[in-house]
Amino acid sequence: MALLELEKVEKLFFSRDSMTTAIKNISCAIDKGEFVSVIGPSGCGKSTLLSLISGLIHPTSGTIKLDGKEIKKPTPETGYMLQQDYLFPWLTIEQNITLGLKTMGKLTEETRKHSLYLLNELGLGDRANHYPNELSGGMRQRAALVRMLTSDPKLLLLDEPFSALDYQTKLKLEDLVFSTIKQHRKTAILVTHDIGEAIAMSDRIILLSHRPAQVIRIFNIPDELRNALPFQARNHPAFNGWFQDVWKELESLEQQI
Ligand code: ADP
Ligand code: MG
Repeated sequence: MALLELEKVEKLFFSRDSMTTAIKNISCAIDKGEFVSVIGPSGCGKSTLLSLISGLIHPTSGTIKLDGKEIKKPTPETGYMLQQDYLFPWLTIEQNITLGLKTMGKLTEETRKHSLYLLNELGLGDRANHYPNELSGGMRQRAALVRMLTSDPKLLLLDEPFSALDYQTKLKLEDLVFSTIKQHRKTAILVTHDIGEAIAMSDRIILLSHRPAQVIRIFNIPDELRNALPFQARNHPAFNGWFQDVWKELESLEQQI
């Protein structure tokens, strides 16, 4: 069964004297354990789509279901990771990554230990008592990843999480996030403007049109790229052909402006 189902989702934004259609008639299903990337022209509605799936905003029409239940509000079943880490500067890394558990009343010695275990797993075991400004950008995003995983969400929403990082850090983090997600058997949706990243990380790529976003095409990535770590996938002989295909399709959309 699909973990996430979108049916005829539409989103309109209203202001006093205008109306913007951000999403138009999107239907799709994402299975448990799948890694799906969403790409499309800038401003087409990608972040809006993730906000809808997170339950932060609601569709104007259509339905979004997680595990068969309509999403009405944000729940711990969905984790969110953004370009900016939004770590609180006045809290230590440990306090930051356990804050969600604390607000949900789920912070126990056991969940605290598990959070510190995850922190260690992502190479930040010695940073628990540090403050965010003592960490590099890459380390902060790793801490944000740990924070997202501590509440054990079923679905991970990643909105351009690597785009503020330098290239080398981004490549390393792609591998780390990919293997962490696979190891914990999570389902993930990644929004990115980096075609290479989408090909290297995902099982499927959903290409959206200009605003209002509609699904233009779905690319199914072949096993040899899907199963490789992103860095290896980027160096795989099949990678370039896929890159060209997705590039051309995206380019033809950009030219329609
Ligand atoms: P993307 O992430 O693909 O760059 P967004 O989802 O952020 O695009 O935005 C899609 C469109 O919806 C844009 O035209 C944006 O201005 C509009 N939009 C997004 N959020 C709001 C909002 N809260 N109120 C009004 N318009 C919005
Ligand atoms: Mg966006």
